[in-house]
Amino acid sequence: MLAIENKKHCAAIVLAAGQGKRMGTSVQKQYIELEGKPLIYYSLKTFQESGLIDSVVLVVGEGQVAYAQNEIVLKYGFSKVCAVVEGGKERYDSVWQGLKTVSQEPEVSYIYIHDGARPFVDDEILNRGYETVEQFRACVAGMPSKDTVKVVDEQGFAINTPDRKYVWVIQTPQIFEKSLIMEAYARLMKEEHEDVTDDAMAVERMMKVPVKMFEGSYQNVKITTPEDLAIAKVFLREK
Ligand code: C5P
Repeated sequence: MLAIENKKHCAAIVLAAGQGKRMGTSVQKQYIELEGKPLIYYSLKTFQESGLIDSVVLVVGEGQVAYAQNEIVLKYGFSKVCAVVEGGKERYDSVWQGLKTVSQEPEVSYIYIHDGARPFVDDEILNRGYETVEQFRACVAGMPSKDTVKVVDEQGFAINTPDRKYVWVIQTPQIFEKSLIMEAYARLMKEEHEDVTDDAMAVERMMKVPVKMFEGSYQNVKITTPEDLAIAKVFLREK
């Protein structure tokens, strides 16, 4: 762990309110078992054990608060989880619920927003994120794209091939000064925002504050479809 002088108070919002339809299982993906533990366990454990993170708000689906409280938070002793709240229909609705809860903690300076569906976030990523948010106020984890990316038109014809060194694939955590992300979302929720798929977009669009990228890792994948689960099992065995 980093020894940081005058470390600021950091809260994490861990999102687990998605329906996970692309997984095609009856159990919601955040509760699917991987090596005997639910998927959501792994990122919560990393936040629990990080010396940087002081508190965690867990955002879960409708009607799942009691289940998550008993079967995840209490069962695995995640004492940093100070609230379990219901999310909303879209990811940004869930983030907004989490932010409103964190706003009740006046001591928080930085907020890490993390997809609970990314079990392989690690201490190094959390630390790099802290150093970056201290300097730039808003930052997101990501990795340079390994593949060539093409922008296509509505008929599926390639219209542009951006230079690969400028193309990053976005991950979480996305980390912000509390006042910045609160204001960005408060403004965003009053406007058209159906196209917003990550938190950085809210800050770029509503606050015009540049968002700095920092290195996540190629293992910090989002578990979305069944083949991702197979990959996750391999990564877990290597740990
Ligand atoms: O749907 P997608 O895989 O992009 O979701 C990313 C993360 O956001 C997941 O951890 C998911 O549980 C969460 N999410 C949420 N509320 C929603 C939709 C997604 O908390 N309404």
